[in-house]
Amino acid sequence: MAEQSERGGQNRHNGHDGIARQLADDLWIIDTQFQGEHDIIASYLLVGESGLALVDVGSAASMAELLAGVRAAGFDPADITSLVLTHIHLDHAGATGPLVRALPHARVYVHRIGAPHLIDPSKLISSATRIYGDQMETLWGRMEPVSAERLVIVDDDDEIQAGARTLRALYTPGHAIHHIALHDEARNVVFPGDVAGVSIQGVDFVRPPTPPPDLSLEDWDASISRLEALSPAKLYLPHFGEVSSTQQHFAVLRRRLHEWGELALAGLRAGKDDAAIAADFAGVADPQIARLACASDDAAAAVRHYELATNYLMSAQGYMRYYRKHHPELLGEA
Ligand SMILES: [Zn+2]
Repeated sequence: MAEQSERGGQNRHNGHDGIARQLADDLWIIDTQFQGEHDIIASYLLVGESGLALVDVGSAASMAELLAGVRAAGFDPADITSLVLTHIHLDHAGATGPLVRALPHARVYVHRIGAPHLIDPSKLISSATRIYGDQMETLWGRMEPVSAERLVIVDDDDEIQAGARTLRALYTPGHAIHHIALHDEARNVVFPGDVAGVSIQGVDFVRPPTPPPDLSLEDWDASISRLEALSPAKLYLPHFGEVSSTQQHFAVLRRRLHEWGELALAGLRAGKDDAAIAADFAGVADPQIARLACASDDAAAAVRHYELATNYLMSAQGYMRYYRKHHPELLGEA
């Protein structure tokens, strides 16, 4: 595949023209402006007569920007009735608690395994604190518990009404065990969450977000296959935006997921630590990202945006845990 374009040179929007941008008659992408940057973490607004729905809500630290985005799209946040979560990581679900407090009629749709961690976020917070340390508050604000009666447990294949659309929930583990992708069968488009990887607008590079503790390459492969089989017309990535060349996108994601796995494995066998393996990832990927950044983009900014959306250290830790837990035989430790 040509280096210039991982997915066939599709036209992708590479400017950020505001906090909310309309993608379809009933669909907006809202830039939650994570850490004051553009195009890192998205929420998707779906509108219908019965109310507004958000697919993912971003960090608790950017709730004001999220709600400003809903207003910029021309809607009243008080009309939000559904918060649909692809998974409960803090960059996608962090704002759920404060939103539910601010929106007395909103209900939260979440994977069965994710639900207990919204009710009691202490495990989520401690696992994120291991990764982010004293950056926690700045990045993620304050995670608040959600009362059980506000939750709707989503099982595999369930249908969710979101705005004017019906979304089918597809259990898609790999990135996280409690992960769902949302398939709009009528339009054959998918809100895939993080299982479809990270591709920042205007940079045609697909990066796998591979955090601990749930990373499973076997599960992830199966989840990619499940989504590929739908031949979706579009993916709406949380990091970040619309992808049209979906089959090529999945092929590149799958290839890179395993290439990075081989790198991590070689590092582990050589006795490297997480920082050294992260440096190996950066050494391979950053030059590619810089090359693939569109002419109008600053290459250094593109590298920084990818790192904000999914950082190398976290990815290294995810692979290390995966191999130690699931494949000790590959490390000569069996
Ligand atoms: Zn994410």
